[in-house]
Amino acid sequence: MKTSINRHLGNLAFAGALLLTGAATAAEQQFVSIGTGGVTGVYYPTGGAICRLVNKDRKEHGIRCSAESTGGSIYNINTIRGGELEFGVAQSDWQYHAYNGTSKFEDQGKFDKLRSIFSVHPEPVTVIAHSNTGAENITDLKGMRLNIGNPGSGTRGTWEVLEGALGWDRSDLKLAAEMKSAETGQAVCDGKIDAYFWLVGHPSALTQESLATCDARLVNVTGEAIDKLVADNPYYRKAKIPAGMYNNAEDIDTFGVGATFVTSTDVPDEVVYTVVKAVFDNFDQFKKLHPAFANLSEQEMITDSLSAPLHDGAVKYYKERGWM
Ligand code: GLU
Repeated sequence: MKTSINRHLGNLAFAGALLLTGAATAAEQQFVSIGTGGVTGVYYPTGGAICRLVNKDRKEHGIRCSAESTGGSIYNINTIRGGELEFGVAQSDWQYHAYNGTSKFEDQGKFDKLRSIFSVHPEPVTVIAHSNTGAENITDLKGMRLNIGNPGSGTRGTWEVLEGALGWDRSDLKLAAEMKSAETGQAVCDGKIDAYFWLVGHPSALTQESLATCDARLVNVTGEAIDKLVADNPYYRKAKIPAGMYNNAEDIDTFGVGATFVTSTDVPDEVVYTVVKAVFDNFDQFKKLHPAFANLSEQEMITDSLSAPLHDGAVKYYKERGWM
């Protein structure tokens, strides 16, 4: 009798434990989204790489991550601010302006809940022009048909800054196209535009495809206006696209920003901690998930290009690793 009662109790306890486990998993199951960019850029595979490492252990932590293709940096920051995205990839110049409430973010005011997590790859200003333009520097594109980026992209925002620095009006271009990055390669090859402008990591699928499939080349982005921009703003630095990266026999001189991974204080510490841990516990694997990650180092990623404070969940992980 005693044994039977014990067994019965034991079974109840077992059933209870199962129920509890089931309930706990359902309650802890959490969906998080990362806003990225066009599918042929580097942000989209960056979000994909982060999610892949998070989802690998989703049975243990209950977080399911998905990467969404979006309009780019400024869209991602605004959508995190609106609470519809937990994470996003964003250019360091727009992270800076969003946090400080400057430039394009002046009307909305300071996004003081914005938090940085880590920086990723460098993003040089990259200009791909049809060879029949004869262009060798961005200044040669005056009067031509240029894609300046879709509204909401970091690319477009940085174009507006650069245009001002060059002293150009919109009418100084014969056509200022606003296509999304994924459409621009074909447009250059088809002769619908002379060139496209964007900020992207290298190598990127779209840049590779344009330079391999049509008669196009990278052009330099240099001159006094650029020197002044870099000297005056902490988030810009001189950059090079190395010789041989694509069809370029020589280094391409330009300037650029860093891609950064951001969130908001509204996202719980535990969630951010889990995502950061997934990336840095599997860092060798992460670096292999995109060729633009080849030269990343942990120390640079947690310090460079970050203007908004680090999220507490990220700080917890970095302290555990002895990095802070
Ligand atoms: N930096 C670009 C932007 O914010 C996106 C680049 C990419 O998709 O990799 O518009």
